[in-house]
Amino acid sequence: MRVLVRLLPALLLPCLLAACIFGGGGDRPTPRQSARQSARPAPSAPTSRETRQCEANLTRAGYSFRSLPDRDFGGGCSINGAVQLLDIGVPVTGIKAMRCGLADKFTGWITHGVRPAAIQILGSDVVRVETFGTYACRNIRGNAAYSTKRSEHASANAVDISGFTLADGRHITIEKDWNSSDPQIRRFMEIIHRSACKRFRTVLSPDYNSAHYNHFHMDMGGGTFCR
Ligand SMILES: [Zn+2]
Repeated sequence: MRVLVRLLPALLLPCLLAACIFGGGGDRPTPRQSARQSARPAPSAPTSRETRQCEANLTRAGYSFRSLPDRDFGGGCSINGAVQLLDIGVPVTGIKAMRCGLADKFTGWITHGVRPAAIQILGSDVVRVETFGTYACRNIRGNAAYSTKRSEHASANAVDISGFTLADGRHITIEKDWNSSDPQIRRFMEIIHRSACKRFRTVLSPDYNSAHYNHFHMDMGGGTFCR
């Protein structure tokens, strides 16, 4: 596994940041659902001090990353206070720029939520995390009420998780296994979803809408919502 981890930066580096656009599903609850959420103020772009503090947290936790320069791509798409994770103890596919606060929650979720759950419930550690990506200059999808608004992906403040490979070779995907006939896999899904909702501000699963049939959307935007 360490070999794979060491290879990860080499695999990721050729992908130029602005060229790596990944799609994803819709990102927002409907207005009716939003009304049930607690009203925390929407976080704006982080200050450089907040980013430095966040990066110190990542370093202290033992994760390897590189800081990315702030960039404004125009049209409401920008990257501020972002990092590229290089080694979080398990290879992760498809992640490019992530706002540091999102990277902090994501690494914590993988290390303290997903991997322990896989070991305890499924008897096998996660050896690969698969995503549909982070930054994408696009609007929210899957919800007409928000279709003219920029997604949290447009500021690298969201990540879409599609599946996991276990050390025993099993391949678990949100699409295939969210409603698995295996009660242990269903339990694993339930636990990691609950763990995500404790960490991220918004988490959308296949139970939310059809746009999320194959991934968990997780973001650190202004809302708080879990489904
Ligand atoms: Zn998403």
